[in-house]
Amino acid sequence: MKNIIRMVNILLAVCMLFPSCGRKSNLASDDTLPDTTVEVKDTTAEDTTAEDTTAEDTTAEDTTEADTTVVVPNDGKVHVDSIKLDKYTVTVKVGESDMPWVTMLPENAPDKSEIWKSSDTKIATVNTYGKITGVSEGECTVTVTSADNENVSATVKVTVKGAVKEVTYIDGILIANKTYALPADYNPGVDAQANNALNEMINAAKTEGVILRMISGFRSYSTQNTLYNNYVARDGKAEADRYSARPGHSEHQTGLAFDLNSLEQSFENTKEGKWLAENCWKYGFIIRYPKGKESVTGYMFEPWHVRYLGKDVAKKVYESGKCLEEYLGITSVYEN
Ligand SMILES: [Zn+2]
Repeated sequence: MKNIIRMVNILLAVCMLFPSCGRKSNLASDDTLPDTTVEVKDTTAEDTTAEDTTAEDTTAEDTTEADTTVVVPNDGKVHVDSIKLDKYTVTVKVGESDMPWVTMLPENAPDKSEIWKSSDTKIATVNTYGKITGVSEGECTVTVTSADNENVSATVKVTVKGAVKEVTYIDGILIANKTYALPADYNPGVDAQANNALNEMINAAKTEGVILRMISGFRSYSTQNTLYNNYVARDGKAEADRYSARPGHSEHQTGLAFDLNSLEQSFENTKEGKWLAENCWKYGFIIRYPKGKESVTGYMFEPWHVRYLGKDVAKKVYESGKCLEEYLGITSVYEN
């Protein structure tokens, strides 16, 4: 009987911690529970502290048992008894990939191998490392199971969005940033007008003793894909997203962007960097990712990266003191 009282006590305590718990009881229309609770309250007052402690211990055990319906082989060896993921939902575009981070517990289980399975490989595939790749628009689930204990698994809800089909112009300006992607097959090469303007700028700088060199111009979707994935492998996704665009999101794919001289932020303080910042607007360019605008542009300061807008627009943006996102009132944020 005392055990039953303890359990009700525990229920009461848990319900006080999680108010939604009470609502669930109401939904279940369990009218007997509140009455029992009142009786128990009195009993609690008489209980000694020592017994309270015991009750807490029991709680811990009860919770574990309630949450885990997992059967662990009783052969004296350590087996995996739970799987945790860093995310349980994944949203990717067709052709894009994402990979949840897996933790198998307990830590000292010798075999933590994973078995990955997609519920619908027409929607998304998953490789042996848990890399999920979108195949076509739709939803499915991907499950990871412990090879050591097939009773233990975790499920990821996968949403695959359609590939980008059109380019986006805002106020007549072609946009490629974290919000607006270019189609994978948008492959215009370097823009002739932008290239002429670049040469004009390089020549003008030269007459003032400033040597500008173009080190990167047009990049195709597939080139960017390779670049970005290499950066992710080296620095991780979060860090790579600060300085490298995901495929389809790079301004270099527009054919209107150029990197000059040096990919070091110290370029800002060189003679060339200063000249570029002060004069590029005269030739139709802007410093696309200015200092202090990382939260708006989505990229860290890049004193070497210029974007061609044409002389009129470049002048207006320069004089506004805003970055392009602020000037147009748009965002630059990945969906996931
Ligand atoms: Zn660049």
